[in-house]
Amino acid sequence: MRPALLNPLFAPATSLPGIGRGFARLIERLAGPLVLDLLWHLPSSLVDRRAAAAIADLEEGRIETIRLTIEAHKPAAGRRPYRIICGDKTGRLLLVYFTVKGNYLERLLPVGAERIVSGRVEFYEGLPQIVHPDLVLRPEEASRLQAIEPVYPLTAGLRPRPLQKAIAAAVERAPELPEWIDPALKEARGWPSWKEALRSVHAPRCESDLEPSAPARERLAYDEIFANQLAVALFRARRRRRPGRAIVGTGALSARVEEGLGFTLTAAQSQAITEIAADMASPHRMMRLVQGDVGSGKTVVALMAMLKAVEAGAQAVLMAPTEILARQHHATLSRHLDGAVEIGLLTGREKGKVREALLARLQSAALPILVGTHALIEPDVVFADLALCVIDEQHRFGVGQRLALAAKGENADTLVMSATPIPRSLMMTVLGDLDCSRLWEKPAGRLPVLTRALPLERQSEVVAAIARPLEEGGKAYWICPVVEESESADVAAAEERFRSLAPLFPGRVGLVHGRMKAAQKDRAMAAFAEGATRLLVATTVIEVGVDVPEASIMVIEHAERFGLCQLHQLRGRIGRGRDKSTCLLMYEAPLGAMAKRRIEILRESEDGFLIAEEDLRLRGAGEILGTRQSGLPQLKLADLLRHEGLFAIAHDDARLVLERDGALESPRGAALRLLLTLFRRDEAIRYLRAG
Ligand code: ADP
Ligand code: MG
Repeated sequence: MRPALLNPLFAPATSLPGIGRGFARLIERLAGPLVLDLLWHLPSSLVDRRAAAAIADLEEGRIETIRLTIEAHKPAAGRRPYRIICGDKTGRLLLVYFTVKGNYLERLLPVGAERIVSGRVEFYEGLPQIVHPDLVLRPEEASRLQAIEPVYPLTAGLRPRPLQKAIAAAVERAPELPEWIDPALKEARGWPSWKEALRSVHAPRCESDLEPSAPARERLAYDEIFANQLAVALFRARRRRRPGRAIVGTGALSARVEEGLGFTLTAAQSQAITEIAADMASPHRMMRLVQGDVGSGKTVVALMAMLKAVEAGAQAVLMAPTEILARQHHATLSRHLDGAVEIGLLTGREKGKVREALLARLQSAALPILVGTHALIEPDVVFADLALCVIDEQHRFGVGQRLALAAKGENADTLVMSATPIPRSLMMTVLGDLDCSRLWEKPAGRLPVLTRALPLERQSEVVAAIARPLEEGGKAYWICPVVEESESADVAAAEERFRSLAPLFPGRVGLVHGRMKAAQKDRAMAAFAEGATRLLVATTVIEVGVDVPEASIMVIEHAERFGLCQLHQLRGRIGRGRDKSTCLLMYEAPLGAMAKRRIEILRESEDGFLIAEEDLRLRGAGEILGTRQSGLPQLKLADLLRHEGLFAIAHDDARLVLERDGALESPRGAALRLLLTLFRRDEAIRYLRAG
């Protein structure tokens, strides 16, 4: 039930004076159906209608407001529009009308009278003119002149004045609401109350009032972010109330495996492993995200987590989005485990007897770790005692798939891993209910990748440049372009490139693309990993997770067709070993402005988070997450980039509030319930009640 206090805001826009059905439909298309939606429709600019000094001071292209004397009317003649000559002490100005009804203009602007006129000034044949003024007032009406008017984004058919009036009426309707923001924060930021903020954003006095950093705008943005983070924190709290199981490993296996790794864990990896172990050991259900840039070493972290489950006598599973990746994980983990623990592989290719045998061992608890693709989700895959699900490259899976896997265990813990470096603000908004471990550093000793851009015409130079390192035992990827229309076109491009490169390096060139049979793909990947082939022509099937540390060169054809994060992921395949690596971005000239900027960013940075922020700036949030990621909230008042700093504050405050007042029963708690309702987060309130 909605508190009565908010009823005026949740009333339809038609409840405001002067809003009929037709007008309401336009408003609905623009902002939404309710009074509240009008409040959230913020001005994008302003018009200054404070009277200008004189005609002589008018500036071309500006909206000006001037006091004029009407001198003469020149009715339309032939193709000439209706013109009215006006003047002041400093000069002459024309008012121009292309459509005129009856004697309307004679009544509005009688000769000899004074009028205040407002509109955009243009110069025509040396004379200033205003075509169809926005406003004509008698001098005694000057007080009606709102010196500075907000200008709202419009939709076709909607005129600015009525919209302005409707929004002003909505602001008047808005009640004073009890404060939900922490008083110290509000004070420190200089934020106004909610009602005051509304008044203020709809009555900007200067350009800086329109900035996202203006106190009133910032406050409303914070409200929205806070409502979001509070809802997220409530989901998390509810999840944590659900029963889990305490998985405490002996540490014996993991110590042994860690010793045999051949490298020392980074501080970030150790910390992530500690955080995961603590989550698993506690009786609540773990839902943790390991976020780390490509090459930050997430696989080992997953391995250590899985060993905890095995040490406790239970089972663990790792799901990867592609067959290549599942096989690679299986190979890598087998190598690290070195026989200490048995590990199975299940993809679409394991069939018949092999599959049956595997499933039998899984069900009888004889197989402690299983790696695979979404084939793991099949109903006949049954575990004896699954305690941990790890999902690699989680953004490649739908939420349903994630849940289906987790459902195979009783209260199983879940670990999701992602290399898509999502900007922090976006991550908190979309995945904020997950606990997060961040791999903030990459293993030591990695050399930076040199990234260069070359036009496609210089392909022969590129071929010459890679010949030498290939002869000396190096390895290179050659990535073929994404073709918009179809996957088969991708494949054709890759096959053609393979045919043209194969004779240049006889017996040394491999090919892998999405249309190949799984077994063929494996053979191609294995040949490349072992060094039988040294140049791998590939489509973006290798984008996700492939790890061949000796590969030190990557050529990307038509780099301009790839997205920024995608290029970053691709490039992340190299620079993993001891050799200095080079990435050659080949582009089709001339480059568009966006493509140019993308390539520039890649040349300047290897920091996935920075690149992701730039990507967000260039493309917007929806694009980054792709269609797979459901639940991207529509932020109306907040901006993921420009209000980025507010997300962390809201995140912390939301958790703090719930720690102190988990049921939101204090006076501030009651205000927070209003906030949740205001931003249509009622479902979160229901979770609260369910206790
Ligand atoms: P990603 O985070 O992209 O999944 P991987 O887990 O594939 O990264 O690891 C990338 C490479 O770095 C692998 O070859 C892995 O063996 C290696 N690696 C992982 N951790 C370390 C470390 N602490 N020191 C050195 N190399 C490491
Ligand atoms: Mg990986």
